[in-house]
Amino acid sequence: MKALRKETPAPGARYVDVPMPEVTSHLVLIRVKAASFCGTDLHIYSWDEWAAKRVKPPLTFGHEFAGEVVEVGEQVERIRPGDHVAGETHIPCLECYQCRTGQMHLCQNVEILGVDRDGCFAEYVAMPEVCCVTTDPALPWEIATLQEPFGNSVYAVSEADVMGKTVAVFGDGPAGLFATAVARAFGAAKLYCIGMQPYRMELLRRYQPDEVIDAGCTDAAREILDRTRGSGVDVVLEMSGAPAAIHQGLRVVRKGGTYVAFGIPATAVPIDFADEVIFKGITIKAINGRKMFATWEQVQNLLLTGRIDLRPVLTHTFPLAKIDDAIHLLDHGNVRAGKIVLTP
Ligand SMILES: [Zn+2]
Ligand SMILES: [Zn+2]
Repeated sequence: MKALRKETPAPGARYVDVPMPEVTSHLVLIRVKAASFCGTDLHIYSWDEWAAKRVKPPLTFGHEFAGEVVEVGEQVERIRPGDHVAGETHIPCLECYQCRTGQMHLCQNVEILGVDRDGCFAEYVAMPEVCCVTTDPALPWEIATLQEPFGNSVYAVSEADVMGKTVAVFGDGPAGLFATAVARAFGAAKLYCIGMQPYRMELLRRYQPDEVIDAGCTDAAREILDRTRGSGVDVVLEMSGAPAAIHQGLRVVRKGGTYVAFGIPATAVPIDFADEVIFKGITIKAINGRKMFATWEQVQNLLLTGRIDLRPVLTHTFPLAKIDDAIHLLDHGNVRAGKIVLTP
């Protein structure tokens, strides 16, 4: 089969022939119908510091996907050939304290698809049965693959009570776009979005935030404080991971408010714990992955009822072989894509 491989510890990737994955015990073999490109994949493709530390080539990367089951291992019970599935990309050990006590998404021994083991940017992928989420065939493949990243945002927004509240979303990447859609659907009263990329701020507007603030040309925190008579917002959703946004978020969350931390900074970010956290009496909720599998149930409800439409975020589709063209649209200085879907 063909797979997009990181063959050497260097920038780039190649679409090459590799052996089919073996399908034993609890594994399920899935024919990938759509995969989506994520920030993590960009790190691996461009081979930055994080990737060099974490990833051991050769590796097939990619972790967000949906596809059709073609074969199951002898111990698989729930999944059948022909099923439509999407992948929960955090593969739990099922044995640690967290796995045994309802916090599987925080497994101590988690393996990440396409990072720690061969991923889904390929014609086929083998997944443990526990990570195969059956998906309604009514969901188009290119939407089904977005359930995983969308799930991050659903989980993030669910951890704060946004109904009737003032909310600020930091970040105009897919996580910020999805969080905006979810916060609106969950009844945020006043919704501020903070972005930097003109292309993506246009996408943000599709989800009807009350205001989109361009952090590139204005002090976003000052703007929000001015609009809230100096008191700040009830809820901050930090979806960008940018150190400046992390501090701005802590500045605009009101005293006693909730700060949801999702975006992952590339390096350690110094925080003034006394002034930015303790004296403000805020609650910080850290979001890792998706709740397994409560978030997935919410995701499917939201998508199948049409309550949230992900199509505005999905701006481009490319064959896997054309990965270089896709990457071209994600150039930092001039981003010209929302979420990109790749097909084998
Ligand atoms: Zn991802
Ligand atoms: Zn575990």
